[in-house]
Formats: sequence, structure tokens, C-alpha cells
Amino acid sequence: MSSDTVVMKFGGTSVADAERIRSAAKRIVAKREAGQRVVVVLSARGKETDRLIADAYEISERPAPREMDMLLSTGERVSCALAAMAINDLGHEAISLTGSQAGIVTDTSHTKARILDVRADRIVEALDQDRIVLVAGFQGVSTAKDVTTLGRGGSDTTAVALAAAVEADVCEIYTDVPGVFTSDPRIEPHARKIDVVSYEEMLEMSASGAGVLQLRSVEYARNHGVRIHCRSSFDPGDGTWVVPESEAAAAQQSQEQSVENPLITAVTHSTVEARVTLIGVPDTPGAAGKIAGALADARVNVDMIIQNEPPQDDTPADMSFTVPRDDAQAAEEALAPVVAELGIKALRTDPDMGKVSVIGAGMRTHPGVAAKVFRVLGEEGINIEMISTSPIKISCVVARDRVPDAVRALHGAFGLTGEDTIRPEEPFGQFT
Ligand code: ADP
Ligand code: ASP
Ligand code: MG
Repeated sequence: MSSDTVVMKFGGTSVADAERIRSAAKRIVAKREAGQRVVVVLSARGKETDRLIADAYEISERPAPREMDMLLSTGERVSCALAAMAINDLGHEAISLTGSQAGIVTDTSHTKARILDVRADRIVEALDQDRIVLVAGFQGVSTAKDVTTLGRGGSDTTAVALAAAVEADVCEIYTDVPGVFTSDPRIEPHARKIDVVSYEEMLEMSASGAGVLQLRSVEYARNHGVRIHCRSSFDPGDGTWVVPESEAAAAQQSQEQSVENPLITAVTHSTVEARVTLIGVPDTPGAAGKIAGALADARVNVDMIIQNEPPQDDTPADMSFTVPRDDAQAAEEALAPVVAELGIKALRTDPDMGKVSVIGAGMRTHPGVAAKVFRVLGEEGINIEMISTSPIKISCVVARDRVPDAVRALHGAFGLTGEDTIRPEEPFGQFT
């Protein structure tokens, strides 16, 4: 495949109404007219996926995951068909494809499927016929021939997977903010745009709540060496490049002269955590394995785990872990038989937890970052419930309603506040 191919992905806000679809179409056509072969990935319009999920729960308390995927996959198909019409009206030939038609093969995990293979021959054929190819994001076809979806934000992963398959120069992610910021601009309006970030830092950011790029899309990009350019769909300026660490380090070094305190790259947050505590877990080998095994079988993603030291040998311990709030019920159900089998005294769930994280490759070589994080949160009167670290990240679980204060305090304390602030279109209003 020639190297002049580009993948352009537009998120929900960027295709929310007819005017935005037409303006995305113009941008797509401009790329084609500049001589590039263009593959486009689109998300469902506006809040369509949320609406479809609400429709499902209006009908049934427990919608079957297979049928959920049939339903959810329609949102992105609508966007693609409409955008193809807009592109045709601009005098170019476009063809819209579902994920399945585009050759995206996944495993059978409905609503959280993983891409196994991309058989891009139909896309390549259409590009060879001088067409602009529009692919419905967030979906694929499973090895059992059922429609699957890739988890919330999954169109990013579709885009990166296609970029790898067609050997595109770059995967452009067009969204409603001008790039990846030092913090979610909806919470911290003084957040600064990051020009270049490494896959490693972006992985930690996405994993700890920066929804601007889906975690799996960053994993896929790193594994396949896809360069991501995350940028605004509303203005033409350069956004954020997500690239290998060596390249990011070189770019950051040249920036260091002008930016103070490069120790921390970003402060991220999540407000969708639940904490599950098991009280009185027998202190015997194999207990933790049974607990984690039951959760893994139920496909519940466990984040932080803490087990305290029992006061004496042979007395029961307590174990706490965090899960995404949406998985809390599944976690409770999966653990019920283990609780009975091991004679665990009680299971308690706290659904109102949040998490704040600081991320930066600089902390590998600079001690004292954790101490500063704890001190800053302490000064804000914010209680730290749980802590976890990686070589380039420190995360603290805190009460959900203190998350915005925690983000702003850490962002300021680590000198990330910038001058070029932005005001997102929809303010961070629904902090529910
Ligand atoms: P899209 O529909 O284009 O995929 P998303 O809503 O998935 O858009 O992602 C963009 C949003 O991500 C922004 O509006 C912003 O509120 C949020 N966000 C969270 N953390 C960050 C961050 N560190 N930098 C930029 N945006 C962020
Ligand atoms: N429409 C899906 C969602 O809202 C996928 C995406 O936009 O990436 O999560
Ligand atoms: Mg998204």
C-alpha cells in the first residue's frame, strides 16, 4: 500500500447535526483533493449511543448483550451513510461500510469485543477505485459471525486498527477539543494542550480516565507503531501527536526551555469507580485467586486491590478493590458463590468513588512526587482511600464529589496551568 493514505476519525460531537456532517465532509474532501487516499471512521451522532442504551433499558432490565450490539451498532451506520451522501454532493465518490463489511473481525465478547484481525481488502479495492471509504466505527463481526461493539469510545480503536491495516501515515482523531490536554478541560479550564506525548504516558492517561482516546486505541497504536494526531474538528490548528517515547522525549526536551516544571505531564480523573470490600477473608493460600478468578470469569475489570495484614496469623483479612461502577453489580453476583464457599463475613459496595491520577515519565527519575500528591490532597482536606502506582503514575481513590477539587489542586501544584485556556462547548455540567 502506498504511504499517502490517511485515516480520519470524527467523534460524535463532530457529526452531531447536518451542518457538522457537511463541514466534516468538506474537510475529508479537501484531504482527497490534496492527493491523499482517505479512509474515514465515524462515531454515532451526538449522544445517539447513550439514547440507544436508554432505549434498551426502557424495554428490558437485562438486555441480551448480542441484541445490545445489534442495536448500538446502528448509530455509526447512520453517520456513515449520511456523510457519504454529503461527500457525493461535493462531487466525490464515497462508499459507506459497516464494521463487518470493512473486515473488522473481533472476539465474541459482546459490548466489549477486541479486534482480532482486519481484512482490509474491500477498503483497499475501494481506495484503488478512487473512492473515499467511510467505515462505521465501534463495531465488527465476531468469529461466530455476530455483530459486536468495541466498548465506549471504541471508534478510536477502529480508526487505529484501520490505520495499521492500510499502513496509513497517520491516524487523525478529530474531536471536540483541540487535542490532549494536561487535564480534562471540562474540569480544569486552565488545562494546556500537550503538543507531543508518548504512547506510554498516553496509555496511563487513557487507563486512568482521559476519555479523549480509548485505552485500546492507544495500545493498538503502540503495538503497531501507528502515529496518532488528536485534533479539533472545528479549527485547523495542530493538535497532539501520540508517538514513540524517544520521539516524544526529544520534542519535550526542546519544549522544556519554555515550559516550567516538566515533571508531570497530566492530571487525569475518573468519576465512575465503585469500591467493593470483602470483610473477613480467610488468610489462606488460594483465597485471592478464587476471588480474582470469579471476577475475571465475569469479565469484570478490577483496578486497584488492597489487602490488609490481619492482626495475627490465621485471623481473617479484609480485601478491597475498585471496579467500574457499571460492573459493580456483576462483581457482586460473581462473588456471591465465593463469599459462601470461603465463609467471607460480608461484602460491601461503595458506588460513589472517584480517582485522580498524576502521570509523567519524569517521575521515574525524580523522587518525592508521591509525597507532594499526598500533601496537596491533604491540604485540600481530601481523604485518600486507596493508592496505586506505576513507574510513571500515581493514582488515589477519593470520594467522587471531591474529584474536581483534587484535579484542580494537583494541576496547579505541579505547575501545569497554562495561559491558552479553552472553554469546551458543553460545560462540565452534569456531574452526576
Ligand atoms: P469524541 O466524541 O470526539 O470521541 P470524547 O467525548 O470521547 O469525544 O472525547 C473528548 C472529550 O474528552 C473532551 O470533550 C474532554 O472533555 C474529554 N477529556 C478528558 N480528559 C481529557 C484530556 N486530558 N484532554 C482532552 N480532553 C479530555
Ligand atoms: N458511539 C460510541 C460511544 O459513544 C463509540 C464512539 O463514539 O467511539 O461510545
Ligand atoms: Mg471518544
